[in-house]
Amino acid sequence: MLDPFGRAITYLRVSVTDRCDLRCVYCMAEDMTFLPKSQVLSLEELDRLCGAFIGLGVKKIRLTGGEPLVRKDVITLVRSLGRRIGAGGLEELTCTTNGTQLAKLAGELYAAGMRRINVSLDSLDPATFTELTRWGKIEQVLDGIFAAKAAGLAVKINAVAMKGVNEHEFDRLIAWCGEHGFDLCLIETMPMGEIGQDRNDQYLPLSLVRADLRKRWTLTETDYRTGGPARYYDIAETGRRIGFITPLTHNFCESCNRVRLTCTGTLYMCLGQDDSAEFRELLRDPTVDEEGLRQAILSAIARKPKGHDFVIDRRTRRPAVARHMSVTGG
Ligand code: SAM
Ligand code: SF4
Repeated sequence: MLDPFGRAITYLRVSVTDRCDLRCVYCMAEDMTFLPKSQVLSLEELDRLCGAFIGLGVKKIRLTGGEPLVRKDVITLVRSLGRRIGAGGLEELTCTTNGTQLAKLAGELYAAGMRRINVSLDSLDPATFTELTRWGKIEQVLDGIFAAKAAGLAVKINAVAMKGVNEHEFDRLIAWCGEHGFDLCLIETMPMGEIGQDRNDQYLPLSLVRADLRKRWTLTETDYRTGGPARYYDIAETGRRIGFITPLTHNFCESCNRVRLTCTGTLYMCLGQDDSAEFRELLRDPTVDEEGLRQAILSAIARKPKGHDFVIDRRTRRPAVARHMSVTGG
């Protein structure tokens, strides 16, 4: 599947629910209105659509959300996608989670074929964690992370870098990840959705963070890639890697290989643009067969834009795209 700019689309991110048990301040407003269930694709519909993407060359699927692991019976989707790994054409099935359900589900994720997961953890300080997630308890997440490790899952910790919030914690996060054998990835805040506060106050350019970390850690750039946009560095002192996702200071669109499906069956061809294609009605139309689905996917891919226009704009102070990150799952 090639887009108009010759980029092969091999990576599908699937938001399986817009709901979440937390309300991270940079991601959601406190009083979010969630979608009515009738608009949300069933797990069978999601599985069928993922199957069509795999048939067209998608090799990696990441489940995300909202919080993917709070969707009822999500494990049945994980199992069914897991069966497509290998001869089925899928190379990797993974997920991005806030970790709250991992103590319960990590073993089942591994058994279904998952080998790596990303867990979001912006702070190791219990009070800061609760403040950032509006009511989360860090113990629950740490228990989940260690359950995942014990189950055999490789864990990467994702932390959104925020000025004045967790910027003094990066050394601690690096050391803690090193101690437990986790990679770490720092993410710049992206201007998505109204969150009830000014993003200019949070934005921290990772180019500055990296330069500062280099004063204390020996960072060597590597070619390591996970199919995502992060650039990785080996940390000599811990033997682990640190990645930086920098949509604002370094535009990574030229190597974009992915598209994003929401839980309502809307396909976004770019995280930072509004153009989309709808699949729910097609999936529910008995006259549309697998070939019809394939053609609809191909014509959506043919509209994939060249790149995003993210900018944290001090004049308009409006988000670059109106939808929240929880719609497409990052
Ligand atoms: N609930 C899961 C979690 O938190 O990992 C999956 C969905 S969450 C939307 C996916 C990732 O997006 C998380 O790592 C989160 O920190 C990040 N994220 C959310 N809003 C963001 C924003 N405005 N800018 C940058 N990253 C954001
Ligand atoms: Fe929920 Fe993840 Fe968004 Fe936090 S970042 S509110 S855990 S979806």
